[in-house]
Amino acid sequence: MTIEFNNFTFRYDALVNPTLKGINLTINKGEKVLIVGPSGSGKSTLGQCINGLIPHSIEGESSGSLLINGLEAKTMKLVQFTEQVGTVLQDTDSQFVGLSVGEDIAFALENQRMSVAEMYPLVKSTARMVEMETLLNHAPQDLSGGQKQRVSLAGILVDDVDILLFDEPLAALDPKTGKRTIEIIDQLHRETDKTVIIIEHRLEDVLTKHVDRVILMDGGQIVADMEPNDMMMSGLLEKHGIREPLYFSALKHAGCQLKAEDKPAYLEQMDINTFAPTVQAWHSTYAKQDVPEAGDTLLTLENITYSYDGEKNALEDISFSVRRGEIVSVLGKNGSGKSTLTKLIMGVIDPDAGKITFGNDNFADLSIYERSKKVGVVMQNPNHMICHHMIMDEVAFGFVIKV
Ligand code: ADP
Ligand code: MG
Repeated sequence: MTIEFNNFTFRYDALVNPTLKGINLTINKGEKVLIVGPSGSGKSTLGQCINGLIPHSIEGESSGSLLINGLEAKTMKLVQFTEQVGTVLQDTDSQFVGLSVGEDIAFALENQRMSVAEMYPLVKSTARMVEMETLLNHAPQDLSGGQKQRVSLAGILVDDVDILLFDEPLAALDPKTGKRTIEIIDQLHRETDKTVIIIEHRLEDVLTKHVDRVILMDGGQIVADMEPNDMMMSGLLEKHGIREPLYFSALKHAGCQLKAEDKPAYLEQMDINTFAPTVQAWHSTYAKQDVPEAGDTLLTLENITYSYDGEKNALEDISFSVRRGEIVSVLGKNGSGKSTLTKLIMGVIDPDAGKITFGNDNFADLSIYERSKKVGVVMQNPNHMICHHMIMDEVAFGFVIKV
């Protein structure tokens, strides 16, 4: 047995009510489980109880018991947690400690005062497990999101922990990189006897590989703990605000009668041919939707080129326009320039060539403040946006800002 919660309850000191309530959960050694649940349902809090952040750096009050490898968590020292549990977070930037990939991976070993002679081969072989062996001398900050995550992963793998805990590992990754991450996690799980816990609401991406159980949380409680196919058929995911895999919703929408035996949790294992006639019949009756006509042109980008370093263009000769009332989606893999485009439109950076116009205004003539009255931006990482301690002040900030 690896992890055992018994009627476990936890309340943050800052909150009046408990965040985790009556948790009963056993995760066995070598299992691979997926924890899903809407935002705020307590998934990360549960993870922090497993990795020792609670109670070691976050204060609160718990009752019931939590055993990790037979030890009562309350009595464990932080080092006992770090020897057993390795955590990879969504925001990998905050996890780097080394100046190079190699140094970062070696950090845990340095803390154990391992000799350099022993350390080198171990860092190398661990880097190989996550396909980073050729980038050992690079700075972690210069890597793509997927690569950063693999460095974090290697950093905990060198430690030879029993339990690998991933808290929303896919949140910042594009679908292809995310898929690769899931493959690497799966490979590690098969090749080692580690216990793997993945917290993630991108269900569809995680289920491209086998998981033993899906644990559904809501409101600080565990509402279901089932094998993936049964969970899919239970209807509980939708009921608790988790988006079902798109193919699953689409098949149901087309009128297909799915059963757990059809293995709906794993698209690659499904016998799609059985459903083809139903889907085709539905498709032939599908009428094209009327889309409301878009208005006049509002935002225009003409021949925009931008380079961060003066050598490589992050954006090259980009032109497009957006009309009033339109919904436009910009797609592209990690590093293709989507965020650079946003920064140019916001005015955080100026284009090397080209012109951005908004109605009759040339954006180059407007300050960031003036632009912000026309274009509102919500960024990927909310930490980059929030600048006040209290929610009231944060929301009111837009009213008090002066040029
Ligand atoms: P999830 O990971 O499922 O989104 P969390 O565990 O992060 O959920 O949050 C569950 C609840 O605990 C939320 O109401 C959140 O505001 C609260 N919470 C999370 N972290 C802290 C903290 N460090 N201090 C006080 N409250 C917290
Ligand atoms: Mg979370």
